[in-house]
Amino acid sequence: MKIWDISVTLKQDMLIFPGDKKFKREKVASIREGNVCNMSKLEMGAHNGTHVDAPFHFVEGGKSIDQVPLNKFYGPVQVVDLSAGPEAIGESDLADHVKEGIQKVLFRTRASDFVQKKPFRREFPHLTKEAADYLVESGVDLVGIDYLTIERLSRDNHPVHKHLLKNGVIILEGLNLQEVEAGDYILACFPLKIKGGDGSPCRAVLMEP
Ligand SMILES: [Zn+2]
Repeated sequence: MKIWDISVTLKQDMLIFPGDKKFKREKVASIREGNVCNMSKLEMGAHNGTHVDAPFHFVEGGKSIDQVPLNKFYGPVQVVDLSAGPEAIGESDLADHVKEGIQKVLFRTRASDFVQKKPFRREFPHLTKEAADYLVESGVDLVGIDYLTIERLSRDNHPVHKHLLKNGVIILEGLNLQEVEAGDYILACFPLKIKGGDGSPCRAVLMEP
């Protein structure tokens, strides 16, 4: 079975969202230095690299990552190619592309070309509030995008994250969809089981349906 790895690599000095905790892997034991094994300690932000947002990320009292049902992270998915598309992805872009009845949808945008490149860009393809409304009304339960956030940077109070998460739509961010064509796949992006977690890194993959 063909498996497409759509995750970015976690490593020192990787691109992170401004203000996030940096990813760090520290050696605590080394065979070369006489220890019985190689072992390291990880330090990172919960939203570094390819990760999922739990409702609790923006909704006080919302489900934390360990409480989200696992079927949100696995199942049929449609990859929509908007790499030639607009910076602000609106309702009409979705109405033209997203299949009726589909529960999970990933947007490939031009951000797949720069999601692993520093510096952080302040302008990038993102979903508008109208697009988020459309997805909630269509019954989607997971939406993914390639840049580190699904929403434009602004002073408004994160309307896209809030609307999606309040309605139980899980957000998958930081994807690399460069090698993936538009179409139907099976998605798996299981998060770590972190008690009370607002989000978690995940290994996101696509498989043939
Ligand atoms: Zn996030």
